[in-house]
Amino acid sequence: MLDYDLHCHSNVSDGLLPPAEVVARAAGRGVRVLALTDHDDTDGLAEARRSALEHGITLINGCEISVTWRTHTVHVVGLNVNPEHAPLAAGLAAVRGGRRARAELMAESLARAGVGGVLQGALRYAANPNMIGRTHFARYLVEAGHAKEVKNVFRRFLVKGKPGYVPHQWATLTDAVGWIRGSGGVAVLAHPGRYMTGRHGMGKPTMRSLLGEFAALGGDALEVVTSSHTPEQYAEFTRYASEFGLYASCGSDFHGPGESYFDIGRLPDLPLDCRPVWQLWENQPLQKVA
Ligand code: AMP
Ligand code: MN
Ligand code: MN
Ligand code: MN
Repeated sequence: MLDYDLHCHSNVSDGLLPPAEVVARAAGRGVRVLALTDHDDTDGLAEARRSALEHGITLINGCEISVTWRTHTVHVVGLNVNPEHAPLAAGLAAVRGGRRARAELMAESLARAGVGGVLQGALRYAANPNMIGRTHFARYLVEAGHAKEVKNVFRRFLVKGKPGYVPHQWATLTDAVGWIRGSGGVAVLAHPGRYMTGRHGMGKPTMRSLLGEFAALGGDALEVVTSSHTPEQYAEFTRYASEFGLYASCGSDFHGPGESYFDIGRLPDLPLDCRPVWQLWENQPLQKVA
């Protein structure tokens, strides 16, 4: 089991627990180095840092940026970022800025399919209303009896071709990598296996184009071990990482107790032939702002 968990969420985005409780849970489960990587927001880092000090673990400043690349939504995790770097802060604010109008359109789409009152319902689950997103909608749809569990919601709702899905323009890949690298951080392409699943998933040639572009833009690493990958995918993305000269990262993508496939900290080791992403910051002081 690894003592690094470099991808997780608090209720500043779509996790269930406040930042301090995410850190406490990680510490209690043996994590020694934790990155809090809320979607499009770094507001949880200050509270997480206080909690990390209290529990004697290392906190890496993180975020997970929503990106539109061609017709696909992909996620780029920033590790060891400086949240006060102006282009990063302004960029994340702009990405968050589109979420409310998108949520209204999502609710209208669901209402047309006969599911009403979802915006108000979803907002009750969003501790940070600026960050209203599909997970909050999914939690409300479970509450209202439209699915048994959050992960089941995404089979019938909120995905391409289903009620509640609204196409959206997120950050560009160039901007996301630029904001992260410009702030002194490391850019990681999150859960690549997820982009290849389903009817609208990428084929291998498209994945290679994405990886080529990401590497050319200065992208540093590929998430190899994550809860949405199978062991076969650990091996597959280890090969891609080595082909494209990328380091390898690992994170649970924990959102809340009972809601995630892996709990925080419960990660298999990175394959031995990976270069772990933490080699990139091991010999320099960590960013401590926030
Ligand atoms: P948004 O940024 O509003 O599009 O919401 C994306 C979030 O929805 C992801 O970060 C996950 O937390 C959640 N999500 C998306 N697809 C699924 C899925 N198939 N199962 C569970 N959660 C999902
Ligand atoms: Mn999420
Ligand atoms: Mn993600
Ligand atoms: Mn995530």
